Amino acid sequence: MAFVRKAVKENRVPPEFEDLSTPEDVVKLAKKKGISTSPLNVSELSMELGIIVRFEPMPDDDSGTLFKEKKTGQWVMIVNSLHHPHRQRFTIAHEIAHRIRHAANQDEFNDKAFFRNGDSNWMETEANNFAATILMPKEDFTKAVDSGKTKIEEIAAHFQVSSMAVRIRAKALGFDGHGL
Ligand SMILES: [Zn+2]
Repeated sequence: MAFVRKAVKENRVPPEFEDLSTPEDVVKLAKKKGISTSPLNVSELSMELGIIVRFEPMPDDDSGTLFKEKKTGQWVMIVNSLHHPHRQRFTIAHEIAHRIRHAANQDEFNDKAFFRNGDSNWMETEANNFAATILMPKEDFTKAVDSGKTKIEEIAAHFQVSSMAVRIRAKALGFDGHGL
């Protein structure tokens, strides 16, 4: 009899992304493909992952959606065109996380404002952490701080993300006491 370690979470990574299941894997892929990671070129990365990205006006509360077209099987992301570009970048990174980590669980994701609903479920929490990690890879974040960017606004401008996203990432990386 063989012992099998039980999975901690009910999660199945889609087979096409088995080698791409962590944010670090995604950053590595981007670098390998010559896609900028500091700041991350989210459009090129989406294309590389086979996701079509469209920008359309949505109600202010909606950040974006990700879904699989029934007829073609094509994954499509729609981003709120009325949001600030920095917020749109976070939305795209968040939807990329859903595509890679959660697309075997469901084939449609509708995202409202992030960080507001007390992280409604584990998939949302995971997608937010994943997004923050690919938008601000540890190595690049440390490099930016070492090069003298120690204010939240400076880091946010460098990675083209919101101050909120920087705060969350800085905390995760243990940069709290660093003037961040
Ligand atoms: Zn989500």
